[in-house]
Amino acid sequence: MVEYKETTMEQETSIFTEINKLGHEQVVFCHDEATGLKAIIAVHNTTLGPALGGTRMWHYTSDADAITDVLRLSRGMTFKAAVSGLNLGGGKAVIIGDAKTQKSEAFLRRFGKFVDSLNGKYITAEDVNMKTRDMEYVAMETKHVTGLPEYRGGGGDPSPVTAYGTYVGMKAAAKKAYGNDSLSGKKIGVQGVGQVGGYLVEKLAQEGAEIFITDINEERLEQIGKEHNARVVGMDEIYDLDLDIYAPCALGATLNDNTIPRLKCQVVAGAANNQLKDELTHGRMLIERGIVYAPDFVINAGGLINVYAEHLGAYKRELAYQQAENIYYTTLEILDRARHDGVTPQEAAMSYAQKRIDEIGKLKQTL
Ligand code: NAD
Repeated sequence: MVEYKETTMEQETSIFTEINKLGHEQVVFCHDEATGLKAIIAVHNTTLGPALGGTRMWHYTSDADAITDVLRLSRGMTFKAAVSGLNLGGGKAVIIGDAKTQKSEAFLRRFGKFVDSLNGKYITAEDVNMKTRDMEYVAMETKHVTGLPEYRGGGGDPSPVTAYGTYVGMKAAAKKAYGNDSLSGKKIGVQGVGQVGGYLVEKLAQEGAEIFITDINEERLEQIGKEHNARVVGMDEIYDLDLDIYAPCALGATLNDNTIPRLKCQVVAGAANNQLKDELTHGRMLIERGIVYAPDFVINAGGLINVYAEHLGAYKRELAYQQAENIYYTTLEILDRARHDGVTPQEAAMSYAQKRIDEIGKLKQTL
């Protein structure tokens, strides 16, 4: 069992430094002794609208890891909403704990009460280890929740739409790398075949890609491997394979000093949030190796598009898919801008998003 490290008061000072650096508006620490709930809600920016972002439940090994994750993820949501043209701000929540053993109705409803206490400034949804069923309990205590099942008038699991957006974003990146967007016959490695990765593999298989998959969940690996004729590879092996495309669909920071020099692919395009361990250094390292990187927050916005449609009311899945299709064109535009301006795709996407936030922020100040 991994030892859990609590953050000391001395380290708390650096939390404010971090919040200041990343530009968060508000960070809420939630604690409930009765249910054992420990959560952090981070509201990064609400210029464009309420901060919408999923809740991730993870067995973090320290407070510091959980804080770093929620701060980075919520900031990513601000840029994701802005680049996708949605009227939403960026926020995210993390629950510290074991999703297999700790979740209960009371635990999830207590979390819902904390979300409610923000009066709609933060709207929650699913993320890693949180399912639509969990959102139903959260929704018993707050209306500021999306990702509800279809029988509750919600949009259901957003993962298929996320996977679809990732797929079209991958095709756009392939077009830049190979001159056409066909994925047929391309060797594609998918790291993490959970909710999004699983649907992505399905799309890739339909297009005739040669698929390699890895995951820590062996049962799931075997199932997806059999269903879509994908080859199972080792967790570390994926970085050394002779791939055309690497699709990170598990957790963040897998593009780093250790992995990038090992990659032989021409494209990186996946659904995981915060894939670049260091946005600038690792974004540049990818360019130096001639790899086209489709920024994660541009191509994994399908889920956000889906829950935004639900938030607006009168949800229709076909319309969410249609809107997610625009990710293809946004990705092409970002990659063109990056090449034209001599910056990384990540930088190009962030300045595209920031420009929208600044312009709409000014617009809101006028009569
Ligand atoms: P998930 O929990 O269903 O899937 C994640 C998968 O990754 C699991 O199968 C897990 O076993 C596997 N995994 C964990 N650590 C791994 C490792 N070290 N190596 C290989 N596999 C590992 O989550 P998901 O909803 O599919 O989300 C996947 C990623 O996409 C996350 O980063 C999430 O934040 C991001 N994302 C998801 C959505 C969505 O709609 N679900 C939207 C946007 C972004």
